[in-house]
Amino acid sequence: MPALDELTPAQFCRFLADRAIRRCYFVWHDETETVNSSHPDLEPLGRWLAAERRDFDRHEGVFVQIGESTGALQGAFVHRTCRGQAAGGVRRMRYETVAEYLRDGLRLSRGMTHKNALAGLWWGGGKGVIDPGPGREPDGRGLRPTLYEEYGCFISSLKGCYVTAEDAGTTAEDMAAVFSATRFTTCIPPACGGSGNPSAPTARGVVRGMEAALAHRGQGDLRGKTVVIQGLGEVGSRLIGLLAARGVHRVVGADIRAERIAKLKRAHTEIELDLRVVATDDDSILAEPGDILSPCGVGGTLNSRSIPRIRAGIICGAANNQLEDPDRDDRRLAERGLLFMPDFLVNRMGIVTCADEQAGYINGDPMIEAHLDQQWENGIYRLSLAVLARADESGSTPARIALELAERRSRELHPIFGHRGVEIIRSLIADGWAA
Ligand code: NAD
Repeated sequence: MPALDELTPAQFCRFLADRAIRRCYFVWHDETETVNSSHPDLEPLGRWLAAERRDFDRHEGVFVQIGESTGALQGAFVHRTCRGQAAGGVRRMRYETVAEYLRDGLRLSRGMTHKNALAGLWWGGGKGVIDPGPGREPDGRGLRPTLYEEYGCFISSLKGCYVTAEDAGTTAEDMAAVFSATRFTTCIPPACGGSGNPSAPTARGVVRGMEAALAHRGQGDLRGKTVVIQGLGEVGSRLIGLLAARGVHRVVGADIRAERIAKLKRAHTEIELDLRVVATDDDSILAEPGDILSPCGVGGTLNSRSIPRIRAGIICGAANNQLEDPDRDDRRLAERGLLFMPDFLVNRMGIVTCADEQAGYINGDPMIEAHLDQQWENGIYRLSLAVLARADESGSTPARIALELAERRSRELHPIFGHRGVEIIRSLIADGWAA
């Protein structure tokens, strides 16, 4: 039999089902510096996680269950909860292998630790990942709400160490289904009293990041510039109107969905547009000339293959984990004289918008708008300028400076609840959560 990490999610679900395992976990044990697995059969996967040092990075807990009715593989990744409950959205996507599934969850959840800490939110970092599982696509009538209700129950069972939200593959409607089964969620639809789709504020935040990058380089503002966007989904499509309003001369963009491109062409006649439909493996858009490249599709697009071809001087986009190899790719970009705005620094507005949602939601909330204010020192604009200046002074890269700051902040303890997340995890295990 192949190693557990090499199985497809469907094979892994069968492996668990054959052993009557519906829930399992992997938790970091500080004293022994090892990953403890809930079941002896899963110890090889625990060792695999521990060996993924950079991405695992002492995750406090990884929790997985097979959906009772849907058979979907549902996960909650809890990276670090010093600042509060682990918070981050739930992604629904198909993965080739268990390794890809786990790696994506780990990287995204670690990224949330850094994003939340940099934004100054009293939240730790976490992420949810759902793979639809053994050949069942939960888009059929009835199955999709069931999937998200199941996920809500799963989140409730974790007793608040992780608070979920919307992410790629999940809609506001899905969040309503999650909310029907748990209070540990944000991004619920406005009709349920929440903030809804976070993409509009995220796009506004990315624009602030672009403005900071231009100011840092002495290139003025966005007027007359050309912006190249990869991925014209929820965030990328909203960038077009915002950029047009700021006097951007031309937007070049690519997406794999033809109907989206056609719709955007019809909607935006106020700006010069060059939008293309591309194949999934076609990343030629990254090599387009322009002032700013904005990756707004999937992660990992900045890598040893793409970096030598990039022609825009500034890179600033919404996609999470744009650097395929964060230990190397920021240096590669800097060596080419390209200014990379770390994604976890500029794409915070989605999580900021829902951060205080559990305390009620106000349209135009000043506590949210402050993050877009060019005067506030912890807003995206001024914090970006500070990070860029520090990178220049120290000869380091913006990604490393932002990461150092985020790491420091992420270890600050929540002023009221302390490190309650790990206490919750300990109690889950003591109470036989996976039994
Ligand atoms: P989305 O799924 O709505 O949009 C992504 C778009 O990229 C889709 O239209 C998809 O067709 C396109 N795409 C996928 N592969 C592509 C390829 N190879 N070439 C060109 N286009 C491709 O997602 P979104 O909500 O717009 O988010 C975009 C990115 O930003 C994601 O990585 C997401 O995790 C991140 N992000 C989003 C938010 C938010 O508020 N929505 C917040 C923070 C981070």
